[in-house]
Amino acid sequence: MNKGVFIFSAPSGSGKTSILKPILEKLKNRFGFSISATTRSPREGERDGVDYYFISAEKMREHIAKEDFLEWEEVYPGKYYGTYKSELERIWQQGKYVIFDIDVKGGVNIKNILKNQACSIFIMPPSMEELENRLRNRNTESEDTLKERLSRAEMEISLSDNFDFVVCNDDLDKAIERVEEIITQQMNNWNV
Ligand code: 5GP
Repeated sequence: MNKGVFIFSAPSGSGKTSILKPILEKLKNRFGFSISATTRSPREGERDGVDYYFISAEKMREHIAKEDFLEWEEVYPGKYYGTYKSELERIWQQGKYVIFDIDVKGGVNIKNILKNQACSIFIMPPSMEELENRLRNRNTESEDTLKERLSRAEMEISLSDNFDFVVCNDDLDKAIERVEEIITQQMNNWNV
């Protein structure tokens, strides 16, 4: 069984989802998306068991105590996110590579746990100004959560050196192309 994982991390608003979407569409038979648990509320259009497993803080504590998570983190104050160990097995069983769309610290943690079994890619926003524009245009954040996300972004960018690859998203098409290239090369490396 092929037990490889790809980790994608980026500050919120870097365009990680826009990069991943077409790639996952194209290569959907090769990849399974690891669905995380979170205690935050669903945004409009998000579905339980598809985008996240939306769970209560109490359930989260239970899973932490039972060591059901490969890693977990309080990404924003009072908002917990965690990766179920069972997600890895579920996806590997299907003969697919696991894709993690995860916060930067979580990405670094998983890379440290899985080492060469993992290929980690950091999506870098072109600048802090552009990041702020994108977050504002998304219209999903209040002024407070926006400030929270921007200050977190600075810390996250400082951790980008810990990743195997850093891809700057100043041109969406080029970023998609580069990520596809990295993925193809890595799959070849794992298969030799
Ligand atoms: P959002 O609330 O915007 O969906 O996600 C906020 C952040 O939490 C993003 O950076 C997202 O990648 C990260 N995240 C999602 N799932 C997990 C997880 O299982 N563990 C960790 N550590 N972070 C996660």
